Amino acid sequence: MSTGVLLAHAQVITGADDAPVRDGAVLVEGGQVRAVGVDVEAPSDAVVIDCTGKTVLPGLVDCHDHLLGRSRYAEGTSDLGEPDATWAVVLAHYAQRSLDQGVTTVRVPGTRHAIDLAVRRAFDEGFLAAPRMVCAGEAITMTGGHGTGAGVEVDGAVECTRAARAQLAGGADFLKVMASGGVGTVRVGEDPTHPELDVEEMAAVVAVARAARKYVTAHADGVEGIENALRAGVTCLEHGIYLTAEQAADMAARGVRLVPTLSTMVNIARRGAEWGLPPEWIGIAEGVLEVHRQSFRNALDAGVVFGTGTDGYGDIVDEIIEFTTYGVSPMRALQAATRDAAQIAVPGAEFGVLAAGRHADILVVDGDPLTDLTTLRQVVLVMSAGQIVRQSG
Ligand SMILES: [Zn+2]
Repeated sequence: MSTGVLLAHAQVITGADDAPVRDGAVLVEGGQVRAVGVDVEAPSDAVVIDCTGKTVLPGLVDCHDHLLGRSRYAEGTSDLGEPDATWAVVLAHYAQRSLDQGVTTVRVPGTRHAIDLAVRRAFDEGFLAAPRMVCAGEAITMTGGHGTGAGVEVDGAVECTRAARAQLAGGADFLKVMASGGVGTVRVGEDPTHPELDVEEMAAVVAVARAARKYVTAHADGVEGIENALRAGVTCLEHGIYLTAEQAADMAARGVRLVPTLSTMVNIARRGAEWGLPPEWIGIAEGVLEVHRQSFRNALDAGVVFGTGTDGYGDIVDEIIEFTTYGVSPMRALQAATRDAAQIAVPGAEFGVLAAGRHADILVVDGDPLTDLTTLRQVVLVMSAGQIVRQSG
């Protein structure tokens, strides 16, 4: 067994508890958290890391990141002729950047030619330290639908069944369907309020997922798209821009989760021009900001479980801070970025909280995020499955 590591004299945020542990410690051994608390006994040969003035928390979880940043690869146009190998390097680059930011798990909801699955195989063999990747392979979209550049185009339930099975055969952990148009459009005339795959088509994907004990999440912006996705039996919604109070209540009652990607839309609207994003995207994002705010308010009021997702536009700290603009406490926002996001990405996940027996995916930051969330950007150490993969100073 590897030598233990004791993170000592830290403020510890477990992700599960509503209060932090002051002057606490976390003992890590063999890839797992062994103990958390004030009086942690460490073996005499444990490496002790003094974390005075620092905060130890679970590694962050981004439930929606295609690992393409804001590069031209992220714009989804199908006329990008670069070979898959080039894309693989781009994905690996952004996976590295996620780890730099303390993101130890990334859920990838749709990738061209299922490159996410191929890149993960190289990570799993140890060629690069990387976040845990939870992959959808190709997103499933209608002909000419949202995200064609990150997915496979299908029409009718039979083609949906085939596409869903193909993703699972390739190693996908979950499936992604496009229930509506979106903000990041490729096709002229696409609109977030347009429904895309219909109930029967999405239900076919859900049936394939259920049979394999996997789940489906739906890109769903407009009211009709959201309604169709909920009727089809998806487990999670992405964006939910026009989510109504009734739909939010339905989600809460049936345990359907939400990855609202609030900062994505805010960032595209406010910083899109500076970032050189397509002007149509900026116009659409500006147009939905207000209704998106109301929809997330509906979700909060109904008690829908929600988690962090960035879509690569801005960092995860932007999204955590965005939650707090709704009156969500910093602690609650951090739980959404750790415990809840982990359970959204991988139901039953053994990561996302710091407790004995859980995977040691850990972030150490300088300062106290409970008083200033931007201290989350002062990354001191990142541990993935008990291995130190980033350390500053
Ligand atoms: Zn996306």
